[in-house]
Amino acid sequence: MPTMSLPESLESVSGLDLHMHSTASDGALSPSALVDLCHARGVTHMALTDHDTLNGVPEASIAAARLGVRLLPATELSAQWRGMTIHVVGLLPTGASATMEESLAIQAEARVTRSEEIARRLEAVGLDDALARARKQAGSERPLGRPDFARALVEAGVVPDMAAAFKKHLGAGKRGDVKAHWPYLSSVIGWIRESGGVAVLAHPLRYGLTRRKRGLLLDAFAEAGGEAVELISGFQNPDVTRDLARQLLERGLYGSLGSDFHFPGGHLAPGSMSLAPRSDLPPVWCHPRMRDFAG
Ligand code: AMP
Ligand code: MN
Ligand code: MN
Ligand code: MN
Repeated sequence: MPTMSLPESLESVSGLDLHMHSTASDGALSPSALVDLCHARGVTHMALTDHDTLNGVPEASIAAARLGVRLLPATELSAQWRGMTIHVVGLLPTGASATMEESLAIQAEARVTRSEEIARRLEAVGLDDALARARKQAGSERPLGRPDFARALVEAGVVPDMAAAFKKHLGAGKRGDVKAHWPYLSSVIGWIRESGGVAVLAHPLRYGLTRRKRGLLLDAFAEAGGEAVELISGFQNPDVTRDLARQLLERGLYGSLGSDFHFPGGHLAPGSMSLAPRSDLPPVWCHPRMRDFAG
């Protein structure tokens, strides 16, 4: 089936989204339902980026092939850098290496151990049977994440909504923000490169960093072999975006774009995000390893 090829600039692209979630992690739609929605919205090029897993990719690939949507196998890896949790999207045009597969199994185990610790900590603030409640919210056997606990807190009436759940109990530095001994930033970048993929620093504006500290993160990321950064993640301030573009240009990084879509009914949908500003930043789909996806 013919698919339009992508332009060579970030600002003139449409119908592309390189960051979305399905029920293989904390998204609400099954992988095939997500692909259906992308197709319905005119998204022709997509990456499924579930947290620490590629389990949704086979189902998504079948749906994508049926609809003529270009799908990149991908995952959003949890990592640590200077005591912070950092997310790295691995775009994997040729799939996962054996090392990546083993590492994802270890990530899944780390999530299980972490969910037990989160449950213990939330029981102390009044959520009894926390693990079972979070499991019920997840509605499947996948490893749990903080959103499952957030929903459990809401359903039990401990907090009024998800925002409050993160603000009071699960957000950065709160009781339920368990440092899961995620691998170092350099390790996850290594797995991605070794799989023949491109490492993309996810949502660099969402870590609460000053411009200077964000520069240090970008330096560390590039030093470890990271090659691209999300210039746009959902909706963001245009002035901040232009400044971020400068920081990426200075370091010779590629730019990527994604909605970070998780569920319908919110302010985001597949393919919905701020427009990229005019810049000389090369799009990640122009990376030599992404040629088949872009063409
Ligand atoms: P985890 O992967 O278990 O560390 O959970 C992180 C996920 O929680 C993110 O990928 C988001 O989907 C979600 N999340 C983080 N902060 C918030 C928030 N303030 N409100 C709602 N969801 C959030
Ligand atoms: Mn998420
Ligand atoms: Mn993320
Ligand atoms: Mn995400």
